[in-house]
Amino acid sequence: MSQVTTFNDYQQLAARTAAMDVSKAIREATFSLGLVCEAGEVAELYLMDTGRQFATLPKELGDVLWYAAALCTEHGLQMGDITGVDDIETWQKSCYEKPMLDTRLFVEASKVGDYMKKVVGHGHDLDQDRLIAGLKKVLGCVGDLAVAHRLQVTDITTANIDKLRARYPDGWDKLRSIHRAPDDN
Ligand SMILES: [Mg+2]
Repeated sequence: MSQVTTFNDYQQLAARTAAMDVSKAIREATFSLGLVCEAGEVAELYLMDTGRQFATLPKELGDVLWYAAALCTEHGLQMGDITGVDDIETWQKSCYEKPMLDTRLFVEASKVGDYMKKVVGHGHDLDQDRLIAGLKKVLGCVGDLAVAHRLQVTDITTANIDKLRARYPDGWDKLRSIHRAPDDN
């Protein structure tokens, strides 16, 4: 498949496989929960000691990006506006390696999740600027992790979309989600 080189293209392609046949509250809760869980899966890699634990990092970072994209789409936001640069390669040049990368993504995703909990479950009005600020930090962490592990974010976005095209050839499909191959996660 051709490379997915801009955030807004990625967001559009990701939206193909979002489950929209549920209420807005369920979507917001699911996308927020997914973001936190996928960030947790990235953090989990740092706890493993197999020597190969980071082999799945690109896939897990792609999962984080997918949920960030879904939250953006749900709230009428553009990922490229949040990062300030739509071209992913150009944006990645502003990312850099930082210490404590293992927990920072999880922390920032958890903050977004905690805020969305208040919106979805506690009736707070959504402050879009707060959501944007949180997602910007999450995306920045993904970029920094990619730099730290010598990965290209465009490879991550492309692989993520290819994986989902294989899983959902005709877009989101509940039965295909339930009956996945054991190695399709
Ligand atoms: Mg995952």
